[in-house]
Amino acid sequence: MLRQTKYLSSRYNEPDGWSLSAYERDGGYKQAKRVLGGMTRDALIEDMKAANIRGRGGAGFAMGVKWSFMPWPPKPEKPHYLVINADEGEPGTFKDRTIMEKNPHSVVEGCIIGCYGIGAHTAYIYVRDELHLSKERLWGAINEAKAKGYLGKNPFGSDYAVEVFVHTGAGAYICGEETALLNSLEGKRGEPRLKPPFPAQAGAFGMPSTVNNLETIAIVPTALEMGGDAFSKLSELHNLKDGGSRLFGVSGHVNTPGVFEACVGLTLRELIYDLGGGVKGGKLLAVIPGGSSCPILRADDLVSAPNEKSPLFPWNGKSVLDVPLGVDTFRALGTMLGTCCAIVLSDQACPVLAMHNLMRFYRHESCGQCTPCREGSAWIFRIMDRIVAGQASIEELDRLSEIADNIMGNTICAFGEGTAMPALGFLKKFRREFEQYILTRGKSSPNRLTLPGHFAGAAE
Ligand code: SF4
Repeated sequence: MLRQTKYLSSRYNEPDGWSLSAYERDGGYKQAKRVLGGMTRDALIEDMKAANIRGRGGAGFAMGVKWSFMPWPPKPEKPHYLVINADEGEPGTFKDRTIMEKNPHSVVEGCIIGCYGIGAHTAYIYVRDELHLSKERLWGAINEAKAKGYLGKNPFGSDYAVEVFVHTGAGAYICGEETALLNSLEGKRGEPRLKPPFPAQAGAFGMPSTVNNLETIAIVPTALEMGGDAFSKLSELHNLKDGGSRLFGVSGHVNTPGVFEACVGLTLRELIYDLGGGVKGGKLLAVIPGGSSCPILRADDLVSAPNEKSPLFPWNGKSVLDVPLGVDTFRALGTMLGTCCAIVLSDQACPVLAMHNLMRFYRHESCGQCTPCREGSAWIFRIMDRIVAGQASIEELDRLSEIADNIMGNTICAFGEGTAMPALGFLKKFRREFEQYILTRGKSSPNRLTLPGHFAGAAE
């Protein structure tokens, strides 16, 4: 059931929708004022837990629970920090950017509430440098809020000081991983840290910190205004603790790519055909559901849940296109919801070339600390290069799977899995196409059309 919403995106098409006056016209900053005006931290966190906001950056962790992990009460010698992850480097993902450009005050208000919830007085919003308009709009919103007395030493007349800063990163994909982001924020190389300690114990500058995705923090004022329970129940999956509404992106071979806001529980079929305007240039072949590190789903796949206790049981036997997009439902499908931004491939796309393109990206973005990731991603890409150049044998497909298997679980951060899982997904779902490609030296490939931005030739 398609239920579009307009909580974050109501002013996306207004010429001044990003301004303070437009935000306040729609009731903006009332929740920050209410929270700082005397709401207890416990009440705030309980409401956020009831809202069942799952992190919208990819991991899908429960936001309210994450806030509750912060040590309490804060110690003066150990200041807490709120860090907002707006790096958004996942291929196919561009939803946070729309919030920064078109609704930046929701982020600032979310930061004020978030700081109060975790006992922080400073929030850093980490944005990749090339997003010039995003940075400009965020700084503009921060300055407008400051001039109105909503930030600073006494926001809304309270004695709870809050400052918000925008910090720019140089554009490495790995800086979207929370501990690499923290290193980059501190001016170090953007390399992931071993966990534990987790950020709530030792995060930014070694102090207790919470890292939230930008959309996750931007939806907080809406959830508070509605009340956590009511917000959660917008979602068809609220019984699975996956609540509210969220932004869905769709790109690739669709007629109207873009970002759409709807209740959690939207299906891929609704996203592709109702919101995305249907498949462009052929029939639907496959979907990468939530950013490129999520294993691909074939359009002709049927749900086969392992047992009756699986949350997917009600959809057993149906098309994967009809399963509500949720953190747990898509995990049970053997893939991930990720950032909830789907990449659509028509049957005019070549899965071999699509995987070649993705593996080049992962080889390039590995930070190089772990041997399985550094060497494995390069090895996978070299074999893909040989396949595309018509030089590989079918046996090398098994070697690809073996290399990917050896990356899984043997690395410091999840980037290793983010490389291995899509590789294994392509190989599992398109084994026949890969074999045909090798046997015909690429002549079986439908054409050279593949993911957006892909090169036109078989081998560079
Ligand atoms: Fe770096 Fe890859 Fe290891 Fe992550 S898994 S720390 S990206 S080498």
